[in-house]
Amino acid sequence: MTGSAFDPAEFRATGHGLVDILADYLERAQRGDAMPVLPTVDPDELLAQVSGEFPEDPTDDFLGLLRQLVDRSNHLHHPGYIGHQVATVLPQAALAELTHALLNNGMAVYEMGQLQTVMERRVIEFFARAFGWDDSAGGVMTHGGSLGNLTALLAARQSKSGHDVWTEGQREACAVLVSDQAHYCVARAVQVMGWGADGAIRVATDERFHVRRDALERGMEAAAARGRRVLAVVASSCSTATGSFDPLEEVADFCAEHDLWLHVDGAHGAPLVLSATHAHKLAGIERADSVVCDLHKLMSMPALVTAVLFRDGRKSHEAFAQEASYLFRDADPEREWFDVGRRTLECTKRAMGATAYILLRSLGTRCFREHVDRLVGLATTFAGLVRDAADFELACEPEANIVCFRHTPTGFAGDLDALQGRVRTRVLEAGAFYIVQTALRGAKWLRVTVMNPMTDEARLVALLEEVRQAAGDRAG
Ligand SMILES: *Cc1c(COP(=O)(O)O)cnc(C)c1O
Repeated sequence: MTGSAFDPAEFRATGHGLVDILADYLERAQRGDAMPVLPTVDPDELLAQVSGEFPEDPTDDFLGLLRQLVDRSNHLHHPGYIGHQVATVLPQAALAELTHALLNNGMAVYEMGQLQTVMERRVIEFFARAFGWDDSAGGVMTHGGSLGNLTALLAARQSKSGHDVWTEGQREACAVLVSDQAHYCVARAVQVMGWGADGAIRVATDERFHVRRDALERGMEAAAARGRRVLAVVASSCSTATGSFDPLEEVADFCAEHDLWLHVDGAHGAPLVLSATHAHKLAGIERADSVVCDLHKLMSMPALVTAVLFRDGRKSHEAFAQEASYLFRDADPEREWFDVGRRTLECTKRAMGATAYILLRSLGTRCFREHVDRLVGLATTFAGLVRDAADFELACEPEANIVCFRHTPTGFAGDLDALQGRVRTRVLEAGAFYIVQTALRGAKWLRVTVMNPMTDEARLVALLEEVRQAAGDRAG
């Protein structure tokens, strides 16, 4: 692997070639008519097209393979990409990531990635301040919200159990209360902790999918009936399916009354705290014990990068209260904020915080505020279009950039759920949009998440027309 593989001149030439390919992609994708959003292919068909041979000698052309990847991937920079909650990535963020990939400064301990570690801390502080927390707050970054929620719940368990669970194992059956709209990773985290399927007690939500105070009380009773002690409540800010924000003040009151840890799963919605218009949806977040915030959703960063934040930064050291003396220099966790590997499941970690730091500083924070406002604004506009159309139904008023709706053609007497599924398949095949679907209270709904600031009202109007056509083609 010596010679040209590490040759700087070769890197320069290939790199320029790659940047040209990516810039062309951006130009075409953002135009929105030059390529499908999602080139749908049957998985087995695609498997047959991708060689499984790995010959000793060079076979394929490096840039050729990357060009294929660009052409045949999902195109999130296409303004018709309104599907899952994955960010339309800032091109500069992609360049920053390329730098990390080459430098490969992992971050288990400070000396493996010094500036990277400090930049991560500064980004954590930025969010902590936005939540209204003081200098005693702290936290760590993980690869994704699922791992972030597990990390926070491990700290909650250690903090609220009343004994050293990490060392001794759990002595009593425990549980967390979580809304019936919570992301599945919360239940999964609970099961990873060994609490079983009953360890996540799901409580009912109101007609707009917010957790209900009276349902929390009933959750406590259900836990007692099952012989379980509740340690924490997980609030969704916002929920994944409909983008509904649980009422944090009420949940915080409930937690204070029952001495419970309040964890806020803000994987999707926590960045709304940056917006003057929308921050009120997170009122009460300053009372949370921990918050998870994905930057690869509303903050336009490449996956994965998640901030796991603790109002009392010392709690961040309780998730993995473990000694690894060959790595960590000092037994005093207070002085070891810089050895982030103590506080995550991960050992080697990508310099994810550094990308966020560089972008927040080089672009300024206003642009992120405006980004959030634009995406939520477009979702609100789309909801208005749906509400005004006689042949569409809105699941609930959007609070974030997520809208659930369904097509209800006048006089249609068939299976409405099946119709949504058919319509979605046809819309995807046509290539101008990527939308997803979700189940709400037993019914199937189409779901749009506006992630791309280049999406505009005209395109959302066109989506409704496209859905009508997709339904008409089959129904007729
Ligand atoms: C996306 C999401 C998650 C999962 O986060 P990943 O980063 O995909 O692991 C968890 N909770 C909520 C509310 C989410 O929207």
